[in-house]
Amino acid sequence: MTTSAFDVIIIGEGIAGLTAAGALAKKGLSTATFEQQIFGGLVLNVNELDPAPPGGEAGGAAFASELTGANADAGVTSIQEPVTALTAADGAYVVTTESGNYRARQVIIASGARLKTLNVPGETEFEGRGVSKCADCDGPMFQNETVAVIGGGDSALQEANVLTHYCGKVLLIHRGTAFRAQQRLIDQVNANDKIEKRFGTTVEAILGGQMVEKIRVKTAAGSEEIAAAGVFAYIGLEPNTAFVPDSIKRDDQGRLVTSDALETALPGVWAIGAVRSACGGSLDDAIAEAHRAADAVAVRLK
Ligand code: NAP
Repeated sequence: MTTSAFDVIIIGEGIAGLTAAGALAKKGLSTATFEQQIFGGLVLNVNELDPAPPGGEAGGAAFASELTGANADAGVTSIQEPVTALTAADGAYVVTTESGNYRARQVIIASGARLKTLNVPGETEFEGRGVSKCADCDGPMFQNETVAVIGGGDSALQEANVLTHYCGKVLLIHRGTAFRAQQRLIDQVNANDKIEKRFGTTVEAILGGQMVEKIRVKTAAGSEEIAAAGVFAYIGLEPNTAFVPDSIKRDDQGRLVTSDALETALPGVWAIGAVRSACGGSLDDAIAEAHRAADAVAVRLK
């Protein structure tokens, strides 16, 4: 087991974590970031950030890559390992991974969230064979075909619009009777001839042979099978908090509760972005929280 020490450890290399790390390194604090998958977080799969924050005009992957490069230049240590535990120790904190323990005087949790799954038969079986989580990456595989997008929030509507660049038809399947997305996204969907909306409809199963061929849906009228070559579920987010101690409170969606100043119940442990209860949900909100947390941490370490 190795033990290294930093002024600040940031858990998560999504846009929030990368932004906070860059700001802290520029303040002269020794800073490390941890990432369990690949830098960029949720926006890695979004080619067109809408609205795009300053620096994000070229898309999510380019933006994250830019921030990562700038952080490396500023001296941020990037550790590509999942964090398994966060514990208090002698007035500081220890972040644990499989290979070691890392001490920090302050910790910012920016571990973000992952897309929820439908939990229906066929979803796991057809992953990569028609079931996808990335409209921008996989959309081109469905040229002129019919695909289904599930959900009624910003993500589902935004990605349904993206898929119409490639697909012949996009079935937008929502369990409710009205979307709860930004009005401009609803307007875009309503104006798009390639999108067919189905309200009051839930997906029961994803069916096919080698590849996805159809979905079975349920409405008030009963069950029905509809042909679709692709299935994209955007039904909300699940926060990444497995390593977070129980002493940090969660809200009813499992997100971390903080004070208005972004500090959790553990003094010196902060939470920002999609993992935090009451974070606005836009990229601009996550970036603003990153700067606020970096400022607060710097003051605490003076
Ligand atoms: P969300 O806002 O939580 O919406 C999830 C949608 O999925 C809801 O319509 C919900 O239905 C539906 N749903 C949930 N569980 C379901 C299930 N088991 N089966 C079928 N449908 C289900 O999630 P999101 O759209 O991913 O957005 C997450 C956050 O990111 C939000 O804060 C959003 O504003 C933000 N975001 C912003 C942008 C942007 O600014 N451009 C783009 C994408 C996301 P009900 O309505 O019936 O609950």
